[in-house]
Amino acid sequence: MIEQLYEKSRLRNTDGVSNERPSRRTFLLTAAGAAALAAWRPSLAFASGAGGGAPGTVTIVQFSDDGKPTGKVSVPRVVRSDGEWQQKLTPISFQVTRHEGTERPYSGNTWNNHDHGLYRCICCDNAVFSSQTKFESGTGWPSFWQPIAKENVVEIRDMSLGMERTAVSCRECDAHLGHVFDDGPRPTGLRYCMNSAAMRFVKTA
Ligand SMILES: [Zn+2]
Repeated sequence: MIEQLYEKSRLRNTDGVSNERPSRRTFLLTAAGAAALAAWRPSLAFASGAGGGAPGTVTIVQFSDDGKPTGKVSVPRVVRSDGEWQQKLTPISFQVTRHEGTERPYSGNTWNNHDHGLYRCICCDNAVFSSQTKFESGTGWPSFWQPIAKENVVEIRDMSLGMERTAVSCRECDAHLGHVFDDGPRPTGLRYCMNSAAMRFVKTA
């Protein structure tokens, strides 16, 4: 990809005269940006295109605040800069969602929450989990045996920290939410181990 960009810069230069410096600078910035992005999120390329539909859009199931599905919709993928996310989020939410962080167990505000309601992505409000599938995992992290809708999350193999795990992120904005393991309860046998800091709880009656 970087080579292609470089090729383009050179092509642009053939009819111009003195625009070599800006082009070269663009190339260098682009290359640095791509390298930083790759280091920051190695799984991004793998995730791109997930959700189908037109480029830049994703298909999710929307839910009202009382937890009822209101239909599948195609929405623009939410893309913001690191700086913009940092302004919108608390430090722990920013670290967890935008940099694949993990909050300390028992430190969040929903691991022991037994109220009925739904859990929305802290970054974009996409509904991701429901209290109906929450269970006591004893881990100190809010745990669920399935997402509120499979369309609303993305699961990606994560080889960081020398472990093979499956990372779970928000389909709409790519926020890291947690990981899923196969030692959960019935009926799925899955344990979606989430971060409280990645979600906003909406209580229903
Ligand atoms: Zn989101």
